[in-house]
Amino acid sequence: MEADILITDTLLLPDPGNSTLIPSGCVAVHGEKIIYAGPMEHYNDRQAKRILDGRGMLTMPGLVNLHGHAPMTLFRGLADDLELADWLSNHIFPAETDHVNPEMVYWCSTLAAAEMILSGTTTTADGYFLETEVAHAFADAGLRAVVAQGIIDFPAPGVPDPKDNIEKAASFLDAWQGKNPLIKPALFAHSPYTCANTTLQKAKQLARRYNVQLYIHVAETEHEISMIQKPLGRTPIQHLQALGILDADTVCVHCVWADGRDMEILAGQGSPVVLCPQSNLKLVSGMADLPLMLAKGVRVGLGTDGCASNNSLDMFREMDVSAKVQKLHKLDPVAVPAKTILAMATTDGASISGFPGHAGVLAAGRPADIILLDVQQPHLAPFYTPDLLVYAASGADVRTVIINGRPVLEQGRLLSININKTLDRVRTMAIAVQ
Ligand SMILES: [Zn+2]
Repeated sequence: MEADILITDTLLLPDPGNSTLIPSGCVAVHGEKIIYAGPMEHYNDRQAKRILDGRGMLTMPGLVNLHGHAPMTLFRGLADDLELADWLSNHIFPAETDHVNPEMVYWCSTLAAAEMILSGTTTTADGYFLETEVAHAFADAGLRAVVAQGIIDFPAPGVPDPKDNIEKAASFLDAWQGKNPLIKPALFAHSPYTCANTTLQKAKQLARRYNVQLYIHVAETEHEISMIQKPLGRTPIQHLQALGILDADTVCVHCVWADGRDMEILAGQGSPVVLCPQSNLKLVSGMADLPLMLAKGVRVGLGTDGCASNNSLDMFREMDVSAKVQKLHKLDPVAVPAKTILAMATTDGASISGFPGHAGVLAAGRPADIILLDVQQPHLAPFYTPDLLVYAASGADVRTVIINGRPVLEQGRLLSININKTLDRVRTMAIAVQ
């Protein structure tokens, strides 16, 4: 079978979880799938519609950013260095009330898609409001994305009366289910302290009816623990368990304050966790005990969170911080090795995202979500092990990105997004925010 794209003579990292580098590898893509990934000497058919010279490049699966709020790129750097409650109540919620509309959501999500593609993210999971515009932006950008419509018991963009939040979410699922193979609709319940018990249960019922994932911020701050645990006598995660919310399709974001018992519940229910350590650091929410989570058998992925609380969507930065902060948190330099973090940001993240075919490994039959990094640079030399991807590489090293067999970035140039038009639109909107 003739390949559509053949990446030749590349330093190949097919499975980031096991660290084996193939010095002279090649990857062949036909349609949306990989048909070969391995040593070049074992691939005989050198004909292809397009050949990408992989010399000086490292080729690996694309990164998976499992938690974000893409439209919030408009609020990047708007209100830094504040406490979470002050940041949300006095800055972010008022800015959202005044400035979030469908046009804003489309262009700011396009900006987020550009930033993610440029820094090697091929799959993301988003949760916000007016998500139909996020879905359009990501579909136009060619990004693989779980797009989750927000549910909260407060007036929100596109849902002025919270009584309509479940109905609006259902229409979103109706509109996007099965529409585009790269866009997987889902639900995003904001948190156990902003959604009533009945809202959480209705959201989960809806998710089950449509067979989609439910994402939720949970156990993010000590304040949340006191708000729920004091009156109810159970932790936020035990609260979700008691409400019947937890199963393998409920993705729990943050879990900073999850204790050992909580982690056993999450592992028992198969509920994945997404950690966003940079956001937790910046808002001083605390730090999740990742080694304990992994020891308890919890599936864990990584996310950047919205870039108002990070302020970057670069998963290379997130990986670096994730590995180092766990060492400090546990006062143990071997607490979480780089390869575990790399697997969380690729293979494990792809599995949690739930797309068919599992894109987190480069192997025959897998979806062709591939990134190429320029490793001929001083900060990446010498290149002994893939640990360098966690501790020294950055999103700026990414040169080429292929998603589902389609090149969306080539030699550092975005192919699916008009970046000048996007920057222009977002900067114009930002003038009104200041
Ligand atoms: Zn978030």
